[in-house]
Amino acid sequence: MTAEPTPTSPADSDPASTRWLFGDQLGEHYLDHPGQPVLIIESRAVFARRRFHRAKAHLILSAMRHRAAELGDQVTYVRANTYREALAGVDGPLSVRQPTSWAADRFVRQLATERDLSVLRARGFSSTHEDFEAWARSRGSRRLLMEDFYRDARTRLGVLLDGAEPVGGRWNYDHDNREAPPAAGKLDLPGPYLPTEDAIDEEVRADLDRWEAAGDVSFVGVDGPRVFAATRAEALAALDVFIDHRLAAFGPIEDAMLADEPWMSHSMLSAPMNLGLLDPMELVERAEGAFRAGSAPLNSVEGFVRQVMGWRDYIWHLYWHLGPDYRSRNALDAHRPIPDWLADLDADAIGAACLGGVVGDLRARGWVHHIPRLMVLGNWMITHGIDPAAVTDWFHRCFVDGYDWVMVPNVVGMSQHADHGVVATKPYASGGAYINRMSDYCGRCRYDPKVRVGPTACPFTAAYWTFLDDHADDLRRNPRMTRAVNGLSRLADLDGLRTQERARGTAAP
Ligand code: SF4
Repeated sequence: MTAEPTPTSPADSDPASTRWLFGDQLGEHYLDHPGQPVLIIESRAVFARRRFHRAKAHLILSAMRHRAAELGDQVTYVRANTYREALAGVDGPLSVRQPTSWAADRFVRQLATERDLSVLRARGFSSTHEDFEAWARSRGSRRLLMEDFYRDARTRLGVLLDGAEPVGGRWNYDHDNREAPPAAGKLDLPGPYLPTEDAIDEEVRADLDRWEAAGDVSFVGVDGPRVFAATRAEALAALDVFIDHRLAAFGPIEDAMLADEPWMSHSMLSAPMNLGLLDPMELVERAEGAFRAGSAPLNSVEGFVRQVMGWRDYIWHLYWHLGPDYRSRNALDAHRPIPDWLADLDADAIGAACLGGVVGDLRARGWVHHIPRLMVLGNWMITHGIDPAAVTDWFHRCFVDGYDWVMVPNVVGMSQHADHGVVATKPYASGGAYINRMSDYCGRCRYDPKVRVGPTACPFTAAYWTFLDDHADDLRRNPRMTRAVNGLSRLADLDGLRTQERARGTAAP
């Protein structure tokens, strides 16, 4: 196990230094002094190296340029090919908050040996590195369970407590938050905040057009109109709308999917939070305030708080705790590449209603909520043996809120079970029955979730059983999977299923 790197400088603030802000460090809380000089570098090489979703490139560049416009004379904004090129033209002492990836962290630490640069402790999370490591040490040989970390954080930070006890007598309201979607197929809920684009957005879009036309970069997906907050003011407006109009309904249907409701009841705050525009404790305090004021029920508020200061922080700390090599784990020996139709987000090539709908939503906006990510996209990839490193890269590039620290533990550990159970106690693989229960996709699909073999065989149901079959010896040893694997013995059509799925491979279902 590897700990999060420690700062190179014990001081959190040196007023004389210029604060270098990365594109995910754009909030006020990444600065320490009024009027402090700021450096922001826009590196085109970042976008040239990999094929990002165009909406993601647009959002990040829009947020960086909006921040520069707010800072005015306080900022030096450098457009360059690489960070090194940009930094060559910057004199004087620099400071930077710990970046959010192992690669960027190594880069700034190398720079710190070459010039006057202090690497300060990270911001943007509820618990500190020391909080997490103290908790991890207290576990001894026990698993680093998210639920236990979350309860420790609630206690430590005094969130949703009555004295030392959880409000309402329970820590966890997941049981109340697993409702199927409304049968009507629509939500009776005000929509989320949607920003209005301005001249900066137009300028970014024109630049992306130019870079693409010149062959410098290549994107997937479509961008525009922008639907995620790119400034602090927009992020606060989005937070207001969620807390005042959508939080109350959030909990019960947080896992549900509807083909015509891409946002469902979700907050859409992960993108501005991961740009550094909102501090997670702001969200937590607002949500708890809504509960205390009687405007949102406990199950919704607890479910939201669990996502923001539980799961998000847990993933951040695991990213560092598990070390830089964790990303290359491949316990299920999965080596297939991402097929072209998925790499290109070609929803039109997909006949399966759930997968086609989710890929279409992703193509349109660079975002779908956690259940389509885990139980549709990730589920298809794990049951089809896609290389987990390629899956991690794909999720990082295609999602507006995807960063290395988010995607490595979420994909390698949670979604693809490539760590053999360090993060999740079982693989998140399932047949069509789960999707049928939690969405309205199956009713509009050419396939039948109950059918395994033949022209109407659901690709999720068929692939689930062949996944269990392929990994039966290994999965049988997992107590949470034994019963499922034993179910293979009841399948009279297993030979036909194997033949069918071998022929289908990773073709678009
Ligand atoms: Fe998806 Fe299968 Fe349902 Fe079609 S039948 S929507 S492929 S789960």
